Amino acid sequence: MARKTSVPKANQKIILNCIDQNCTSCGQKMWNDYDNFRTIRTLSGVVRITLKVRRCAHKECESYHQVYRPEEEGAWALPGHEFGLDLIAYVGGLRYQEHRSVPQIHKALREKGVNICQRSVSNVLDRYDELVSVSLTDRNRITKLLGSQEQVILAIDRANASYPAKTLSR
Ligand SMILES: [Zn+2]
Repeated sequence: MARKTSVPKANQKIILNCIDQNCTSCGQKMWNDYDNFRTIRTLSGVVRITLKVRRCAHKECESYHQVYRPEEEGAWALPGHEFGLDLIAYVGGLRYQEHRSVPQIHKALREKGVNICQRSVSNVLDRYDELVSVSLTDRNRITKLLGSQEQVILAIDRANASYPAKTLSR
């Protein structure tokens, strides 16, 4: 269904770069290949993010042209979603700690200046439920999701950005 409201104008702009700028396969420097843009609605406003995307340019490398996106992107929002993780956590807190209804949560968000419709609040709550259901202690699930990958990049959210992202290899 087509969007009925326009995407709100960003009141904050940030640029994200890859922390690891060398290819994890061949170790050679990856240059910024192109930029991607995302607009994320957070509790503190609408953020326009420029993502500096890198790719390995060495044709002999097994990761040739594999896309590397800035590690911090995942701390802002889920892939393909416009609402920030802070907003998702806030909605979940209102629902399950304060037992507020969807219309009450919608009202609370509007009072905070978040431009969101009530149906989107329900969708955000669904994302919260999905995130809660994901448990890092569920080894079978993690193995199924990540077992075919050679490595996993762990990153701490931006509130703790002094800790670097870490790459774990098998
Ligand atoms: Zn490479």
